Amino acid sequence: QAAAKAAAATADSGAPTIFDKIINKEIPSSIVYEDEKVLAFRDINPQAPVHVLVIPKLRNGLTELAKAEGRHGEILGQLLYAAKIVAEKEGILDGFRVVINSGPTACQSVYHLHLHVLGGRQMNWPPG
Ligand code: ADP
Repeated sequence: QAAAKAAAATADSGAPTIFDKIINKEIPSSIVYEDEKVLAFRDINPQAPVHVLVIPKLRNGLTELAKAEGRHGEILGQLLYAAKIVAEKEGILDGFRVVINSGPTACQSVYHLHLHVLGGRQMNWPPG
């Protein structure tokens, strides 16, 4: 598929990503939630009325979920809990979806681990 091939062209290089600029406030973002370890901001190309990205402020090797190791367990839990806080703030606790695209075959395009929090409309299954 064309989308998969396009994503494959941007497979993990370990290089800094645009999310570093967002974390450092070098480019603007619409922040929904922030704490010491986690930043959540609105996706620039929303796929649902609510579409928020939740990221670790320190990438620490987590370019993609496929690179996760035991040492990442705590931050992975913090990210998932932050997704719940975002859903609560956005008023979608009754139904929301959390997605992680890992790797080119899943069309990951930004190699800084992120959770997509989606909601505000009926979500369908299976995803594309
Ligand atoms: P995909 O691009 O296929 O959704 P990812 O799972 O890697 O793959 O998602 C990256 C997300 O980052 C996309 O939803 C994209 O819209 C979003 N994004 C890219 N640049 C920005 C930005 N500057 N501000 C907010 N969101 C961004």
